[in-house]
Amino acid sequence: MRPLPSSAEVVIVGGGIIGVSIAYYLAKKGMREVLLLERGMMGEGATGKCAGGIRTQFSTEINIRLSLLSLKVFEHFKEEFGVDPEFNPAGYLFLAVRKRQWAILKTNAQLMKTMGLDVELLGPSEIRGRWPFLRVDDLLGGSYSKCDGYAGPYEILQGFAKGARELGAMLIEGAEVTKIHRKRERVQAVEMATGERIVTPLVINAAGPYASRVAAMVGVELLVKPLRRQLFFTDVFKELPALFPMVIDLEHGWYMRREGKGLLLAGPEDAQSSFNEKVDFGGQEWTAARSLHRVPILQRARIVRGLAGLYDISPDHHAILGPFPEIKGFVCANGFSGHGFQHSPAIGILIAELIAGGRSKTVDIHPLRPHRFREGDLIYEPLTAFHD
Ligand SMILES: Cc1cc2nc3c(=O)[nH]c(=O)nc-3n(C[C@H](O)[C@H](O)[C@H](O)COP(=O)(O)OP(=O)(O)OC[C@H]3O[C@@H](n4cnc5c(N)ncnc54)[C@H](O)[C@@H]3O)c2cc1C
Repeated sequence: MRPLPSSAEVVIVGGGIIGVSIAYYLAKKGMREVLLLERGMMGEGATGKCAGGIRTQFSTEINIRLSLLSLKVFEHFKEEFGVDPEFNPAGYLFLAVRKRQWAILKTNAQLMKTMGLDVELLGPSEIRGRWPFLRVDDLLGGSYSKCDGYAGPYEILQGFAKGARELGAMLIEGAEVTKIHRKRERVQAVEMATGERIVTPLVINAAGPYASRVAAMVGVELLVKPLRRQLFFTDVFKELPALFPMVIDLEHGWYMRREGKGLLLAGPEDAQSSFNEKVDFGGQEWTAARSLHRVPILQRARIVRGLAGLYDISPDHHAILGPFPEIKGFVCANGFSGHGFQHSPAIGILIAELIAGGRSKTVDIHPLRPHRFREGDLIYEPLTAFHD
């Protein structure tokens, strides 16, 4: 671990995709002492487990705006950061089995069209015509957007980290924050597991699934819960096309995409919140059954490995961004509920705007304020059963 400075203009707690994006955009705004503290290795949390999905298909305007702002950055990522994000514009195909799911997809498509986005509603036979490997006899329809796709979480993380360091930010690994000191309502310093203190007027909570623990260090209740999701990977599988969309079966929250020459298959999401990050055999069985149901030819595929990671779920499945009114110098960037990777560029830009100018200009993030829950001002997201 590099020696820690005794003070910083801002301390970011957590070196996942959100923390490094914020570090980059703060440094780009000209902030000189940006210090990011990661207790393990950067990217070892949810970011390193993420499926890399990037989509514009959401049910709320604010999520679509976060996607559009992020897409602009992904599209020019190589020019800006010198790192290939491995963006694969394969599209996203949502599949509806029940009337309610189909109604949600139709409403989403209407909203997307009013925002100038290209999305197609397809009947079962059209779906079968384009992707003959999909079982469609139980489907009511699907929605397909071709501007969506997936990219490499580590590549994006590296790009932000490299960019932040070039602009003078300090990103330090093996540095666990255990306390945040405040004087009355104002943040004063962070304290490390080693006992060292770093004086700072501003702390940003980017601790992913552990965010509520960091918030508890300043004495506020942040409603973010960890939730395990398993993923499985097959061996080389040549019997499906080399390129097809991220396919999402809303009935079970199952999804599938290409991963190199093999496949990434979504496993189950737990019903109960916990910090468990173990893969289990039950998860593999669930995945095999859901995969065979939707793509029968997968009976010839072989699952070769699995992983489990933690989502950071908020009560209304929208991000939690900004300060609590009762604490000065504590800003949250949490609760991404399965979309933190794809929204990471937007979050970095908007948190940097908020800190530099007192409010976010490009997209108004006031609706995502942390205290909306106690005000009863939640944002309705009908696709709550699905996280990428
Ligand atoms: C299986 C799975 C699939 C996913 N698929 C997608 C997808 O397709 N698309 C998408 O957009 N999103 C996806 N997500 C969600 C996405 O991965 C997360 O929203 C995103 O990575 C959150 O980033 P983060 O930086 O907030 O959290 P993390 O990556 O978890 O980073 C938080 C960091 O904080 C550190 N930390 C915690 N406490 C402390 C402390 N006290 N001191 C110092 N450091 C601390 C941790 O070590 C960790 O590295 C998926 C998630 C999972 C689990």
